[in-house]
Amino acid sequence: MSPTTECDDSFPIPLGPAAPAIPVDLAGGAAQARSRSLAKPVAVPEAVAQRLRSACAKVDVDTATCAEASRDWWALGLRWAIEGQVGGLAGVVARASKAEEVTSVLRICNEARIPVTPIAGRSGVCGASVPVFGGVLLDLCDFSGIVEVDDQSLLLDVRPGTFGDHLEHELRTRHGLTVGHWPQSISLSTVGGWLACRGAGQLSNRYGKIEDMVVGLDVALADGSIIRTGGAPRAAVGPDLNQLFVGSEGTLGIIVGSRLRLHPAPSHEKQGAWGFGSFAEALDACRRILRRGLPPAVLRLYDAHEANHKYQTGDRHLLLALDEGDRAVVEASFSILAEECAGAEEADPGLVGKWMGHRNEVTSPAGLLKAGLAWDTMEITGSWRALPVIYERAIAAVRAVEYTVACSAHQSHAYTGGACLYFTFAGKPPADGWEAYYRAAWDAGTRAVLAAGGSLSHHHGVGLNRARFMREAMGPAFDALASVKTALDPNGILNPGKLGLPSPFGAVHWP
Ligand SMILES: Cc1cc2nc3c(=O)[nH]c(=O)nc-3n(C[C@H](O)[C@H](O)[C@H](O)COP(=O)(O)OP(=O)(O)OC[C@H]3O[C@@H](n4cnc5c(N)ncnc54)[C@H](O)[C@@H]3O)c2cc1C
Repeated sequence: MSPTTECDDSFPIPLGPAAPAIPVDLAGGAAQARSRSLAKPVAVPEAVAQRLRSACAKVDVDTATCAEASRDWWALGLRWAIEGQVGGLAGVVARASKAEEVTSVLRICNEARIPVTPIAGRSGVCGASVPVFGGVLLDLCDFSGIVEVDDQSLLLDVRPGTFGDHLEHELRTRHGLTVGHWPQSISLSTVGGWLACRGAGQLSNRYGKIEDMVVGLDVALADGSIIRTGGAPRAAVGPDLNQLFVGSEGTLGIIVGSRLRLHPAPSHEKQGAWGFGSFAEALDACRRILRRGLPPAVLRLYDAHEANHKYQTGDRHLLLALDEGDRAVVEASFSILAEECAGAEEADPGLVGKWMGHRNEVTSPAGLLKAGLAWDTMEITGSWRALPVIYERAIAAVRAVEYTVACSAHQSHAYTGGACLYFTFAGKPPADGWEAYYRAAWDAGTRAVLAAGGSLSHHHGVGLNRARFMREAMGPAFDALASVKTALDPNGILNPGKLGLPSPFGAVHWP
């Protein structure tokens, strides 16, 4: 374990461009991009495009801009990009910088029955922002910035298109505060995207997932009206409507404002690492730590395969821990950690620094794609009782898929009831079998997780990639979700084809 140290005041990462950054170019250029035609596209008539121009200051209709905006970081979409294709091709990109522009675009599209897909950082990894039915992309990246910081109440009012790194930079350097939401994609993603996908930051053990941080929302509905949900620190005013929109991936409404909880920026931190003989034994140590009520902000457990690949730790399953905050809290959480890890080998705490140094690095998968590799990550949750079985069965199921070359996992976010397992798989299928392999690996892994009692997703969400599992994962509750969708968006214009919800525009087919 390292000694407890004072936190350094400097911002830990260079600020990004506050704009989307998709790592793979569209082969042949965006102007030549073709749609993969996953569904029958809905064209935007010129008269509607004209009305959109009067509603929104920035409107583009050229193919290059539309194709570029029609894609995200979904691994399958990246593969399509090297073939010069996008999953669906929008006809218009409207860029809103205020709520009135969002509501005007929605009114026009609702009247004309044109699909509207909200987009922001486009860092989603499930194809959630791909406009499968074409139509209008409503880009929220210009709708950004902090509205208000209430230091006394530790509450933030922030616009949806604010990129995470810029938000944290301003909060820390100007106010000495933090939201505590620090996803790997902090420089690629926005507040609206975090909320819409029900995201998780790397320090979630201390600060919670985004759904724990939200106090209130402003949501533009499909008909162009705006509703305000939540608002008070706690309330008993019927069901919590914040949570209806958190995770709805742009299918129920467009988030145009949010109130989030704040915390004082951390003053102290401490790091430690331990090696375990088995993954199950290490998971159990995590369970006991959580049970004692004061887990460190970060508790990452790599199975031996990932640990050795990243940190050359041989056959040890590696637990990395980091805590930050008030000195008394940090020291207390680490004394609990030390007690619960007493049976494990203490490892070099410098490994945590190594992880910290790389935790927001994003490497382009272009090389993997060119080498013909198919890969993805699958993050799910399960109870502590179910996790060892989920781990064994999901890995065995994916490894059994022909052409798989590797499948491993780490535990990345933990709760008193269970934790998130983050699987990574890779395969080397024949060139014409990439998509079939990709689908088979997802089918095998997901079905093994669901059968062993795990959840469909922990923080990446559903999008297109997991849409086919939604009914299976939710059971009859899926019909309740579909009824909510119909009630809030009777013409089905909002991000159709996502979350597996039925759409008046037709079905989505892939592959
Ligand atoms: C390298 C990498 C690392 C990642 N690490 C993490 C991680 O650590 N934790 C994590 O949770 N995720 C992670 N992700 C996934 C991704 O960054 C998140 O899902 C993120 O929340 C998406 O935000 P975005 O602004 O990019 O949204 P987009 O990708 O643009 O959109 C995602 C979905 O949200 C909807 N949406 C966007 N804005 C709004 C809005 N204002 N109102 C309604 N709907 C909206 C879109 O329609 C779409 O359905 C990672 C992705 C990458 C590429």
